[in-house]
Amino acid sequence: MTRTFNAPRAYVQGRDVLASIGTHIGEPGEQAVVIGDATVLEIVADPITDGLEANEITVDQIEFAGTCTSSEVERLAAAAAGADIVVGVGGGRSLDAAKAVRTRLDSQLVTVPTIASTDAPTSSLSVLYTEDDEFDEFEFHEVNPDLVLVDTGVIASGPTRHFRSGMADAIATWFEADTAYRAGATNVFGGQSTRTAHAIAETCYTTVREHGRSAVAAVERDAVTESVEAVVEANTLMSGIGFESGGLAAAHSVHDGLTSVEATHDATHGEKVNIGTLTQLVLEGRETDAIHDLIEFSLAVGLPVSLADIGLTEPSKSELQTIAEATCEPFETIHNEPFEVTPQAVRDALVTADRLAREYTDGTD
Ligand SMILES: [Zn+2]
Repeated sequence: MTRTFNAPRAYVQGRDVLASIGTHIGEPGEQAVVIGDATVLEIVADPITDGLEANEITVDQIEFAGTCTSSEVERLAAAAAGADIVVGVGGGRSLDAAKAVRTRLDSQLVTVPTIASTDAPTSSLSVLYTEDDEFDEFEFHEVNPDLVLVDTGVIASGPTRHFRSGMADAIATWFEADTAYRAGATNVFGGQSTRTAHAIAETCYTTVREHGRSAVAAVERDAVTESVEAVVEANTLMSGIGFESGGLAAAHSVHDGLTSVEATHDATHGEKVNIGTLTQLVLEGRETDAIHDLIEFSLAVGLPVSLADIGLTEPSKSELQTIAEATCEPFETIHNEPFEVTPQAVRDALVTADRLAREYTDGTD
């Protein structure tokens, strides 16, 4: 089978890098549009505008309504007509909208994440939602962003909860990419993983483990340290490439299953993914010490480990059944696991991971 690896053309990270945006644009452009919600535009639009104008590029701002629906994408694309540079700013949703706008305009794309919580900044796909804010579909784009510009000062002054969530997503990247690699499963591009993507996913994990506690302590104080730089790179660049070129497995499918139950809706993507990773470890028959190790680290950095931690205090039989069945939908990446996965096996792994976490936190281990 063919091996495939894709990544953004350029990645620039550091404190106050927004002002130098014009010098990192690959091809010259004349007209840029900055797309983000009102709050984010207020924080980052000025330095970005100054940075582009200093390079003779004119700049318009377009306010993103908040949900990446197909009608919102069409509205933004119409408003951005004529631009040869699209700059998406904010969290996953506005970056996904900017990617879809870029495809329609056939322009350059710069993503400027203002939180380090998802893999959206580097990846080539957009998640579209319905008007009711339910998952609608994935839109796959032919290319990754041209430039990913990450201002660590902006990220560190954002909510610590998002920062932690990105760490959980980054940890999952390793366990899923490793499983997909060993199983010879296909990645997002329909090819097999590469040694390169596998190595990036592994470094993603070790970076979060080595720098996570110190980085969270810094972000709690809006501080930028070398450990913050390390974890931002892991959460954004390594996790983004690691999942997209490396491949996914059980953890993200369990996340999808968990979203089918109302009680988990207040938990973030990364928080639900963390429960998914612990479930994957049980499903794969990992030794107890390895599971305890991840529980201990999660608790140390403030990530959820039990179902109660993500809103499912006393899950009913039917809730567990709903989660397990949604996790095993035919299109889910859990089928990249190198053995047959059934809803029964998922349910059993989920409740066992939950029990192990409770024992650990209760000190009854
Ligand atoms: Zn994720």
